[in-house]
Amino acid sequence: MTKLAENIKSALEFYEALGFERLPIKLKDRNLISGRSQISGTFVSVTSGKTEGATAPVHEKVQSGATKDVALNTLREEIGDCKRCKLSHKRTHIVFGEGNADARLLFIGEAPGREEDLQARPFVGDAGKLLTRLIERMGFERKDVYIANIVKCRPPMNRDPEGDEIDACRGFLEEQIKIINPDVIMSLGRISALTLIGDARLKITAIRGKFFDYGGIPLMPTFHPAYLMRNPKDKWLTWSDAQKVLERLGKNR
Ligand code: URA
Repeated sequence: MTKLAENIKSALEFYEALGFERLPIKLKDRNLISGRSQISGTFVSVTSGKTEGATAPVHEKVQSGATKDVALNTLREEIGDCKRCKLSHKRTHIVFGEGNADARLLFIGEAPGREEDLQARPFVGDAGKLLTRLIERMGFERKDVYIANIVKCRPPMNRDPEGDEIDACRGFLEEQIKIINPDVIMSLGRISALTLIGDARLKITAIRGKFFDYGGIPLMPTFHPAYLMRNPKDKWLTWSDAQKVLERLGKNR
């Protein structure tokens, strides 16, 4: 065996030991492997070294926390310098989401605000401080959970994201959820809950505090922290929603 072949074999064995069944590769020219060209986002089997179908979803190869990190990074690369909707015109940064790729609890807000747009991080403004307090009161740190949004770019003047913008971003959030595969999702606010549940007629006041099913994952809608800043008397309702989530996680407080 040549030195190059030995290096490739040991790299593949390393990834196999990490739990990968496939490696995401982006080849400008797939001639290297299969004789076809100009197909990106294909996957190579770690064990066989063969390509397996074009553009397999990133989550399909996910097994452990380390591979989830890799999968999320690959997804972020796929998003690139996104221009898929009009929110790209005015944004400063894409806010992909952050936290533990292997989190048991996933928070999904609505859209980045001004601070988030500047820092490329979710929930770092005033509403973010309140969310951080909730997370800590639940017995976690921010690094233990994952925080994402329905759309990844700031809507101008913090208006609600529009249907076409949500649709342009939806696939990426769905892929993120499949990769993280949390035990529970907590949606923050009306837009997040209605988008995930898929029924625009529902009222957040009617659905918060009740579990819904999101593709097999329990989804708990609660109020948005920005709403709670305007209506502090409702904080106790969100705390009671959080307690149901903790109970579902087997983490009573
Ligand atoms: N509000 C949201 O919905 N998301 C953020 O990231 C910040 C504020």
